[in-house]
Amino acid sequence: MRTHKQLVVYQSILEVLQEPGCPFCRFLKEYQAARLQSHSKENIHRLCNFHAWGLAAVQNAPAAAQVFIRLVDEPAEVSQSDSRCDICREVLAEEELRLREFVSCLARNDVSEWLRGSAALCIPHGLKLRRQVPPVLTARIDTIIESYRQQLAQDLEHLRDEKEPDKAGWGALGRAAEFLG
Ligand SMILES: [Zn+2]
Ligand SMILES: [Zn+2]
Repeated sequence: MRTHKQLVVYQSILEVLQEPGCPFCRFLKEYQAARLQSHSKENIHRLCNFHAWGLAAVQNAPAAAQVFIRLVDEPAEVSQSDSRCDICREVLAEEELRLREFVSCLARNDVSEWLRGSAALCIPHGLKLRRQVPPVLTARIDTIIESYRQQLAQDLEHLRDEKEPDKAGWGALGRAAEFLG
């Protein structure tokens, strides 16, 4: 969870296609960080463990404390029918939205160039996207996942064998975690 860098708020999946790694992961990571920072406090009623830790790591400690006070004061009832974490639910909805946005842009030049060239997709987003693209593109999606997998394996081996790995090489660990979802 990002705590020290400036928040980046993306408006479209097209903005992140040129960034390294899976664009959906990139987009959603920033979205999630922004939601944790700026969520209207009254709307958080339930947090999963992951997002509770995320909230504990945000910069605006007094605002986070306020949310925790309510959660600690009135823990949501376990029997409540909707037991989903509020942030998880938002991230899922945003993921749906971005997958649909991407599919609606398949005819664009920059998107088809990305698909043919520099594309990277993690396994979960690759599989989700695969279900939404026209059949003619599913083999392409498989190839993207597979070549990203090979690239990652190479980066990880490099990191393992390096005597004094430079910080940049460490990024492979985060990308591997992301890839597996
Ligand atoms: Zn992803
Ligand atoms: Zn959650």
